[in-house]
Amino acid sequence: MSFGLSKRSMDRLQGVHPRLVAVVREASALTPVDFMITEGVRTRARQAALVRAGASRTMASRHLTGHAVDVAALVDGQVRWDWPLYPRIAAAFKAAAARQGTAIVWGGDWSTLRDGPHFELDRKAFP
Ligand SMILES: [Zn+2]
Repeated sequence: MSFGLSKRSMDRLQGVHPRLVAVVREASALTPVDFMITEGVRTRARQAALVRAGASRTMASRHLTGHAVDVAALVDGQVRWDWPLYPRIAAAFKAAAARQGTAIVWGGDWSTLRDGPHFELDRKAFP
């Protein structure tokens, strides 16, 4: 089964790096768990608000430059934050990225402050 992206998700990809958009699109066709895009490009003002609130640690976020997206898992059309859903979505992102030769990083693989909804282009390949 293939889910595809809603118009709302597509709107939230505006300004995101085209290589990451391509990975998102293919992942949406491969994933066993539906997802939506909750955030792509972030303004500095929004990033500062997230840092103040403790939701982000850095003003060097990849969201500021269009190199990152956040997703939310959807089960039967409803957003779910259950951790086991996110490695399944990540597997689809990684498969799509590998097929396209695009180096990505999943926040769920970080050893500190794991960020399951977050995907970004690898800084080594996309500074
Ligand atoms: Zn993020």
